[in-house]
Amino acid sequence: MDPGITRIDVATIEGKRPRAAGSNARLGNHGDTVRLPLVRLTTADGATGFGRCAASEEQLRSLLGKPVPELFDDGRVEAEWLPFELPLLDLAARLAGQPVYAFAGGERPQVRSYDTSLYFDDLHLADDGAAANLIAGEARDGWDLGHRAFKIKVGRGARHLPLEAGTVRDIAVIRAVREVVGPEATVMIDANNGWNLNLTKRVLTETAGANLHWIEEAFHEDNVLYADLKEWLTAEALAVRIADGEGAAHPALADWARAGLIDVVQYNIFARGFDRWRQLGSDLDAIGVETSPHTYGGGVSGYVTAHLAGVVAGLQFVEWDVAAFAEIDTSAWVIRNGLVEVPGTPGFGLELDDRAFDAAVAHSGVTLRQ
Ligand SMILES: [Mg+2]
Repeated sequence: MDPGITRIDVATIEGKRPRAAGSNARLGNHGDTVRLPLVRLTTADGATGFGRCAASEEQLRSLLGKPVPELFDDGRVEAEWLPFELPLLDLAARLAGQPVYAFAGGERPQVRSYDTSLYFDDLHLADDGAAANLIAGEARDGWDLGHRAFKIKVGRGARHLPLEAGTVRDIAVIRAVREVVGPEATVMIDANNGWNLNLTKRVLTETAGANLHWIEEAFHEDNVLYADLKEWLTAEALAVRIADGEGAAHPALADWARAGLIDVVQYNIFARGFDRWRQLGSDLDAIGVETSPHTYGGGVSGYVTAHLAGVVAGLQFVEWDVAAFAEIDTSAWVIRNGLVEVPGTPGFGLELDDRAFDAAVAHSGVTLRQ
């Protein structure tokens, strides 16, 4: 059998987050809408696979007529075909009757989620107590959804509030969230580069009782400043990890992680891709550095990242920012007691509603045929 690809459908679809997200230290409101460029591949004998793919129509045409096995080498998409990696992985895993984590040679992932929805939703409130209660209430909602780890956006004083007022509020919010989720839950913070070294030390000092798991993007990554922060954390006996790498990361970031300055590497799952993340994650596994790809805004990137956890042991937490799309059935996925239960169904464990996607393609997409 030669299941060559004979049809490609492309459309950008829109999904909704469970709750609109406010500002962070850099940006304004993130809202509730997520746009996802989606590609469905169909073979001569009618098999399909789909996934996020931002390749151009011209690039996609190069896939037409290609037999699927020729695009793979030992469970990995060959370098030339990486622009189409996710739909190809979904298709090939389905043809093999395996979930992607098994097709890629991994075990069923044991991985935790973290609720990444705790943005600056409080900027309209004048009172810090009311603001802290609002964000703590959002953390409680995340608990009800099954999460047992929570990441709080901080850095209100970088742009949206005066520096001192914003810093005081960040501290109040961190304490309130820890209070409501209890001592066993995991709490992280993310300053989106809105702090400097001294501000970071101040907030970590004042929230020492909150037992923070990581500080993400405290300031733009800098090996001199991170060396200072590391030394200070050790002297203060604070077990807070340093996480960084999303966005326009410094080219030496992975080397700084190898040198012990960064504990958790966070390159974007889609920008880096599944296989390149797998290679880096294996390297980081060997030296005990954690992996936690940035997924925010990807719509389905949490599901992809959960499969990656099957081949990268240091991937402990999946950033959970999933959106609901009329075209995609995610009902096989469950978060229970903080753990992502990754479905064992073929492909990425997501099902496309073909009629709904056909409608999106007819409305604003394109179909390529051999
Ligand atoms: Mg971040």
